[in-house]
Amino acid sequence: MEKKIPYKIYLTEEEMPSQWYNVRADMKIKPAPLLNPGTGKPLTLEEMQPIFCTELIKQELDNDTKWVDIPQPVLDFYKMFRPSPLVHAEFLEKALGTPAKIFYKFEGNNTSGSHKLNSAIAQAYYAKEQGLKGVTTETGAGQWGTALSMACQYMGIDCKVYMVKCSYEQKPFRREVIRTYGGSIVPSPSDTTQVGRKILAEHPDTTGSLGCAISEAVEVAVTNDGYRYVLGSVLNQVLLHQTIIGLEAQAALKKYDIKPDILIGCTGGGSNLGGFASPFIGEILRGEANYKIIGAEPASCPSFTRGKYAYDFCDTGMICPLAKMYTVGSQFIPSSNHAGGLRFHGMSPILSELYDEGIFEARAYEQTQVFEAAEIFAKAEGILPAPESSHAIRAAIDEALKCKETGEEKTIVFNLSGTGYFDLVAYKQFNDGTMTDVIPSDAVIAEALSKLPKVGNE
Ligand SMILES: *Cc1c(COP(=O)(O)O)cnc(C)c1O
Repeated sequence: MEKKIPYKIYLTEEEMPSQWYNVRADMKIKPAPLLNPGTGKPLTLEEMQPIFCTELIKQELDNDTKWVDIPQPVLDFYKMFRPSPLVHAEFLEKALGTPAKIFYKFEGNNTSGSHKLNSAIAQAYYAKEQGLKGVTTETGAGQWGTALSMACQYMGIDCKVYMVKCSYEQKPFRREVIRTYGGSIVPSPSDTTQVGRKILAEHPDTTGSLGCAISEAVEVAVTNDGYRYVLGSVLNQVLLHQTIIGLEAQAALKKYDIKPDILIGCTGGGSNLGGFASPFIGEILRGEANYKIIGAEPASCPSFTRGKYAYDFCDTGMICPLAKMYTVGSQFIPSSNHAGGLRFHGMSPILSELYDEGIFEARAYEQTQVFEAAEIFAKAEGILPAPESSHAIRAAIDEALKCKETGEEKTIVFNLSGTGYFDLVAYKQFNDGTMTDVIPSDAVIAEALSKLPKVGNE
């Protein structure tokens, strides 16, 4: 007899993963190493130590260890918001009238409102273990800064957040959540750093970008004793921590003998798609299964679909290491009109390599069609989705509607990376009918790509 699939599938505490999965161990071609922009050589542990926590650097460089034990204090913290449910979106299926089966993994069930807490707590733990006083970081939409402040508070270390100025102004209440957890927050670019002052002098009216907030946070980390810089996406270590999402999803699907055909996640820096999809990509790489995997990105910052696979800076200030990734150029600043998050110019080196090998595909969506999908989902399933996550919802709905045309009963699983309670200015624009789509011209992207560094690309 078939087991009846519940609306929400939860794992028990015993069924919870106790290790993260490192997909690099199963990759034949490893992601390209981070380069020192000065020497053009792969960064060594010693060179990275002034910037990053030592244990996190080891994880960053480790292409071989397949399973990494999750430290007990991190497992303890996970209990507060994990396992996250895998939800059978039967109301959405009904609303769409599709024969497809749709499931979503819901990562928004914590105060930070997104999956970012999965890595924040791991990074805060390793910083604490190293005896550091605190960490610095950037935040775009604010979820990462919030998650990190929660994690640092739990571990008893300080947290300094540089928040992209336009988001800071759109979401003043983010600041209060971060302050409640004891973190401090500065709108970027600011006059508190050298690089911030330089960017302000050159672009006095800039509304900021993730790349420029990164430059500021790194400067503060390397110039303050006992501080290191931490990053909420892009890096290999972050994808590693985020695999808790995919491992739980995989176990939950197995529990009810559900075989997915299509797996979908949105892509900003690649951590939620990478974390959600890696365990399934591992099955593909080992020849055990085949899935269609889709990354959904904004048309206004189209790293995969219109970017180039090349070495680039991770930040606007060009002080960070070089990463080989799909990028629209570190000097690319997405239109301030863009409300939907996912504004980072580059992409995870792991996902970039896998995408280059054709292991998964990517699609770009304009923000109005993304918010249309958000509205359909909110009405059907009750959850107000984050604009970022709504890119994945858009892709899932499009796939489900294709099934409606063909009559195929495909099983679609997407990662609902977070909730949209702090994105109400964007929802207001959408509801008022004032939201527009700004797609960068080929010339704008070509201009940004013309400033790719020579190092690594010759
Ligand atoms: C940060 C964020 C993203 C995008 O970042 P990735 O690194 O690509 O995961 C997506 N959804 C939500 C809700 C986020 O907070």
